[in-house]
Amino acid sequence: MKITINRKITGLFSVGIIIFAIFAGSTFFVIKTHQEALHRSNIISKKVELTGYLQLQVDRLLLPVNRYLITRDIKERDNFDSIINEMSNIFAELKIFSGDKRWQGVAEKVEKDAINFGEKAVDILYIDKPVGNKDAQKLTAGLTILSEMLVREAEEFHTIAGGEMKKMEEDAERNTRRSSIYTVIGLGASVFSALLLYYYLRRSVTAPLHQLYEGAGIIAKGNLQHRLIINTGDELEELASAFNNMSSSLGEARKELDRRIFELFTLYNISKVLSTTFETEALLKGIVDNVGKGLEIDRVMIMLIDDQKGELYIASYTDFIGEGMEKMRFKIGEGAYGFTAATGEPRLIREVDKDASIAPEERFDEDVNSIIIVPFGVKGKVLGLLNVFKNRPQVFDLKDMELMTAVAEHVALALENARLYKETKLMAITDGLTGLYNHRFFIQKVEEEVKRALRYNHPLSLIMMDIDYFKRYNDTHGHQMGDALLRIMAGLLKTNLRNTDMAARYGGEEFAVLLTETDKQGAVVMAERIRKTVEEYIFPHEESQPGGDLTISLGVASLNVDAKDADGFVKRADDALYRAKETGRNRVVAA
Ligand code: GH3
Ligand code: MG
Ligand code: MG
Repeated sequence: MKITINRKITGLFSVGIIIFAIFAGSTFFVIKTHQEALHRSNIISKKVELTGYLQLQVDRLLLPVNRYLITRDIKERDNFDSIINEMSNIFAELKIFSGDKRWQGVAEKVEKDAINFGEKAVDILYIDKPVGNKDAQKLTAGLTILSEMLVREAEEFHTIAGGEMKKMEEDAERNTRRSSIYTVIGLGASVFSALLLYYYLRRSVTAPLHQLYEGAGIIAKGNLQHRLIINTGDELEELASAFNNMSSSLGEARKELDRRIFELFTLYNISKVLSTTFETEALLKGIVDNVGKGLEIDRVMIMLIDDQKGELYIASYTDFIGEGMEKMRFKIGEGAYGFTAATGEPRLIREVDKDASIAPEERFDEDVNSIIIVPFGVKGKVLGLLNVFKNRPQVFDLKDMELMTAVAEHVALALENARLYKETKLMAITDGLTGLYNHRFFIQKVEEEVKRALRYNHPLSLIMMDIDYFKRYNDTHGHQMGDALLRIMAGLLKTNLRNTDMAARYGGEEFAVLLTETDKQGAVVMAERIRKTVEEYIFPHEESQPGGDLTISLGVASLNVDAKDADGFVKRADDALYRAKETGRNRVVAA
C-alpha cells in the first residue's frame, strides 16, 4: 500500500491528538483527585462543625437544670427546651452522614443518651421545690454522670473526625506525589513522541526534500549520471523516480547531442581537409587524423578497394606503428575486413579476444581490443572501409557504429569529390576525342617549358604534324571514320613517345609534341620515326588516299636555335610543317 504524504500528515495529526489526549487525561485525573479530596475535606469539616456544635449544646445542657435548682425560675425550662431543640436539629443534620456506619453508631448512641438525659432533666425541672429535695439531689447527681458520659461520647466524634482528617492529609500527600509522577511521565512521553515525530519527519520528508534539492543542483552542474535513492514510499519517492527518469533522458539526449556534435565536428574537419587538398593521399591522411579527435578513438584507418586485384589495401592510418602495413592485403570476402567490403554490412567487434571472426593479424596491434568496421561507397558500390580502434574492450556500442557509419558517408563523399575534382581537372586539360592534352593546356605547357629551358639553357624541341589529305578521307568515309582515324593516330603517338614527351591535339587534325631535353637533331630523329610508323601503319580504308597510303607531314623547330621565345618557337615549327606540305607531304622538315 502506498503511504501518501496526505496519509502521513493524517497519521502524524492522529498521533498528536493521542499525545494531547494522554496529557489531557493525566491532567483530568490530577484535577479529579484534588476535587475528590476537596469534597471529602468539606464533609469532614461539616462533621467537625456539627459535632463541635453538638458538644457545645451537650456542655450547656446542665446549665438550665443547675440554675433552676438555685433560682426556681421556670424560664429555665424554656432555656432547656431550646437547647434540646438545637440538639435535635443537629441530630437531624447528622442524618446526612448515615452512610458512614461508625459515625452513625456514635450518633445514635449520643442521641439515645441525650434523650435519656432530657427525660431525667425534665423530671428535675418540674419539681416544685427542688431546694433541699432529696430526690432532686439524687436525680441531679445521676444527671451529672450522664452529662459527663455525653461529653465523652461527643468527643468520640472528634477522634473519628481527627482520624479521617489525618487519613485525608495522607491521601492528599499521596495524590500530590502521584500527580507529579503522572505529570513527569506525561511530559516525558510528549517530549519523546515529539522527538520521534521530528526524527520521522526529518527522515521521510526533510531529508528527501534536501536530497532532491541537492540533486537538482548536481544536475544543473552537468552531472547527468547522478541518481536519487529515496525509499519513502510516497509522492517524494515518485518525484525522485521522475527526477531520475528526467536525468536519464537528459543524459541520453546529451549523449545524442555529443554524437551529433562529433559528427558535425568530423564533417567540419573533413571539409577543412577538403578545402586544403583534393589529392587523395593527403585527403585520406587528413581524414584519419581528424576522425579520432572528438570521440577519444585511439586509432583510425582507411582501407581502399583495389578493383583489379579484388583486394583491400591500407590507404591511410594513424597511431599504428605501421611496420609492413603498406604491404598488407585483404581478399574481398575473406576475414573481417574482406567480409564487410563484400557485404557492405558494418561490423562491431566489442572485444577482439572474444570474437572468433577476426584473425590475429587483423588486429594490427596487441593493444587493440575494440573495433568498428564500416564500409563507405557511392551509389551502392563499396569503395573502402573506415576502421576505428580502441584499446579498451567493451567500449563501442551500436550507437557508435551508427555514428561511424554517418562519418563514413562523409569520407565517401570527400573521396568522391576528390575523384570528381581530378576528373574535372583532367577534362579541362585533355581533348575529349583523343585523350591527348588540348590546345590551351599545350600552349601553357610550352610557355612554362620555354621559360625553364631558357633559364637553365636546356634544349627543347617541338614537332608539329598534320594528316595529309585528311579532307578527302573525311569526305570519302564520313566524319565518324575520320574521328576514329584521329583516335588511332593519337594512340600511335602515345606509344611512340617517351614519358617526358608531351603530345597534344593542336587543332582539328593537327598534333604537336613537345620534347624536353631534346635538341634539334634528336627531334628530327623522333619526327622521322613517327612519320615512318604512320606510313607503315595500315589504317582502315587508307587505300582510298592518294598513293594508297595515309601519311603525315611534320615540322620540327628547336628553342635557342630557331627562336628565343614561345611564340616564335611555335611559329617556326608551324612554318616547317607548311614547307613539308609544300615540298610534297609525308616528310619531316626542320626549321
Ligand atoms: P593537307 O593537310 O594534306 O593539305 O590536306 P587536308 O585535306 O588534310 O587539308 P585541310 O586543312 O584542307 O583539311 C582538313 C580537314 O580535316 C577538314 C576537316 O574535314 C577535317 N577535320 C578537321 N577536324 C576534324 C575532326 O575533328 N574530325 C574529323 N572527322 N575531321 C576533321
Ligand atoms: Mg590541316
Ligand atoms: Mg591535313
